[in-house]
Amino acid sequence: MNPIKIREILNCTNGKLIKGNSEDLILNICTDSRKANDGDLFIPLIGENFDGHNFILSAYEKGTKSFLKNEDQDINLNFNNINIIEVKDTIKALGDIAKYYKSKFPINYVGVTGSTGKTTTKDIIHSVLSSKYNTLKNEGNFNNHIGLPFTIFNLNNKYECAVLEMGMSSFGEIEYLTNIVEPKIGVISNVGLSHIENLGSQEGILKAKLEITANFKGNNVLIINGDDEYLKRIKNKNLNYKLKSFGFEKNNDLYCIGYKMDKKGIYFNCIVYGKKEEFFIPARGKHNIYNAMAAILVGIELDLNMDEIKNGLLSFKPSKMRLDILKNESLTIINDAYNASPDSMKAALEILGEYKDNRKIAILGDMLEMGDYAESGHRIVGKLAKDKSNIIITVGKNSQYIGTQALYEGFNKENVIHFRSNLEVMDYLKKMLKQNDVILVKGSRGMKMEEIVKFLNDYT
Ligand code: ATP
Ligand code: MG
Repeated sequence: MNPIKIREILNCTNGKLIKGNSEDLILNICTDSRKANDGDLFIPLIGENFDGHNFILSAYEKGTKSFLKNEDQDINLNFNNINIIEVKDTIKALGDIAKYYKSKFPINYVGVTGSTGKTTTKDIIHSVLSSKYNTLKNEGNFNNHIGLPFTIFNLNNKYECAVLEMGMSSFGEIEYLTNIVEPKIGVISNVGLSHIENLGSQEGILKAKLEITANFKGNNVLIINGDDEYLKRIKNKNLNYKLKSFGFEKNNDLYCIGYKMDKKGIYFNCIVYGKKEEFFIPARGKHNIYNAMAAILVGIELDLNMDEIKNGLLSFKPSKMRLDILKNESLTIINDAYNASPDSMKAALEILGEYKDNRKIAILGDMLEMGDYAESGHRIVGKLAKDKSNIIITVGKNSQYIGTQALYEGFNKENVIHFRSNLEVMDYLKKMLKQNDVILVKGSRGMKMEEIVKFLNDYT
């Protein structure tokens, strides 16, 4: 972060200086008193289980001299040479400071949202853009009203571009992030079922994702998956911004005409604005062709040539726990324990299904936060699991419906089994694993399926 003055913080947050010197400099923003330092501005956030105002003293003890506080909170800091700024809401102030800090760097911003594949798409776009520009991205999944500001504080003069993942679980959240980032280009990967509990329907999800265009004008570009049943609906709307689409269907600006996958990755051919091009990405799963196509379109919009785009795709490295294929002496493990939704379950099962000569075991945990769609969402997965695996092991609660549906579709009864905990699954695996088994492990983040991956990885 480049240093900023207390005066600037006061201006952008509409804050009141209760005590201190408005010419003092801030070198860093901190919300975790354990990591606090001299030169930081400590921002106490109020969460479900904690109130950062209780940690102001411990931040002070670590050397911090500048503090934000909510106007309705009393803090007792009777020391000299400290700065205390009062604001209405510290979380909002964090966003205001990020927006202000961002305005110092007039570079191209790309915002990425969608139900599934945001992090992967963001990482691929980053690989592509990095072949021409020094590009910032959010680390991991820092994609919400707290993580995104912190990503923005990493901006400095060396960056020429930024690609930022924007997550949401209800209406207004993407709009909030969009107001901070003001992206020139927005990307929507798809409209699935994640967080449908809060958004009511897929139409609701579409509407929430489209908040990314809230400030769009004629020179902004929205890049969408044009095969997506919901996203394609906006193609024939009168829009006040540019729309570009990708997919397998021929009416997209960029469409894939064929692909081949091997252990190294995917070779795929596309028609790009009417011209045939060949690409390779070192990642697996058909969904990554979609993610790569989004990145190709972003690259074109930001003036990369085809060689730069192709080289950028080549340098992509998939993150851990996202369709990470691990091998030990006896087993092949497809580790997709990071998270799960019906769409990403489908992508992962497709990969399991590609193994022809091995016994294929799908270990599938609950997909959480699906509200009224919980049963039908799990049943959709069951239908697919029936074709792509030989044994289905489910763990949790609603994942039972995966097995129920597979049985209904004619799957062998002996090969479907449900457990309530990961420990029970591991006990069962000890009894039944065989040399050369291929095992997919996937479930929502809360299911901690990585415990099973670790067990399998250590198993010989
Ligand atoms: P989160 O909401 O947790 O931030 P995300 O949208 O960032 O998730 P990723 O972390 O990129 O999604 O991917 C999660 C999983 O979804 C991957 O491991 C993969 O199985 C699957 N996936 C990735 N891209 C797509 C896609 N375009 N369509 C369907 N599934 C996908
Ligand atoms: Mg993510």
